[in-house]
Amino acid sequence: MITQKTIKQAVEIHGKGIHTGCITTMRFIPAPPDHGYAFCRVDLDGKPIVKALAGNVFDTSRGTSIRTGNAVVRTVEHVLAAVIGCDIDNILIEIDSEETPILDGSSSPFTTVLLQAGVQEQNVPRQVFQITEKVYLRDEVKDVEMWLIPDEEYRISTMIDYNSKVLTTQKALLNNVSEFNEQFSNSRTFVFLSEVEALLKLNLIQGGDIKNAIVFVDRILSPEELDHLATVFNQPKVSVLKEGVLNNIELHHANEPARHKTLDVLGDLTLVGMRFTGHIIANKPGHKTNVEFAQLIQTKIKATYGIEIA
Ligand SMILES: [Zn+2]
Repeated sequence: MITQKTIKQAVEIHGKGIHTGCITTMRFIPAPPDHGYAFCRVDLDGKPIVKALAGNVFDTSRGTSIRTGNAVVRTVEHVLAAVIGCDIDNILIEIDSEETPILDGSSSPFTTVLLQAGVQEQNVPRQVFQITEKVYLRDEVKDVEMWLIPDEEYRISTMIDYNSKVLTTQKALLNNVSEFNEQFSNSRTFVFLSEVEALLKLNLIQGGDIKNAIVFVDRILSPEELDHLATVFNQPKVSVLKEGVLNNIELHHANEPARHKTLDVLGDLTLVGMRFTGHIIANKPGHKTNVEFAQLIQTKIKATYGIEIA
């Protein structure tokens, strides 16, 4: 019998939200069996709880955001990937602003504090739903396909293709969630320079904070533009490596973008709210389709086991 797990003691982490720029404190608290994953907005009246469930998602434009009533929690996917990566079933995540800290753009800082807290076995069996039929989703507009193929384990295969010379087709396989902490957790988010420039213009990110994304340079830059970027990025000098990556950071893995997308799929699919098995095959995944796929899996669990997740 596999038992449910929580953390041994409360731990906290601080950092800035990538979109809001708010400094946030997040505190992970042990939770009882069958609690699942939930956030608590401790800065709001009545400290409302927002359960990490697909039905609470209201925005997937630049990260996955959930809400209950007026209580919003933005960019939950990297935290949730770390929680399931540490094999935790039950946790309460207190947060004092509307966005989780981006930190280095990966799950690794969350994984580190959760492992510091220690994992506590609980004396209640974990329910794992075997999905016995294929689940399939296609989004024609976004050109995304998602499959769940029945499998005794939970695995994720991801393919990405941005039709770009600087970020070529990549794939990654998370063969077992137990490999996540070692092999996927430190894979950071990535962005194309043209997107960074657009976000900077709209004041949606602060350039000096870009220590948390791999920047792919998708066009040729003049020396003046490189100087300008050095100022924006708060660096003495920036250059473009021959692979088309800006030298603000070094890659942790050759296929770090595909690994990060796998991390996002893992984090978003925790919004199913139940453990399940199956081989997820994600072709060009994004948050919108990940969340839709989580809802399809919930529907499948309901049809097979008669359990409604809410
Ligand atoms: Zn991400």
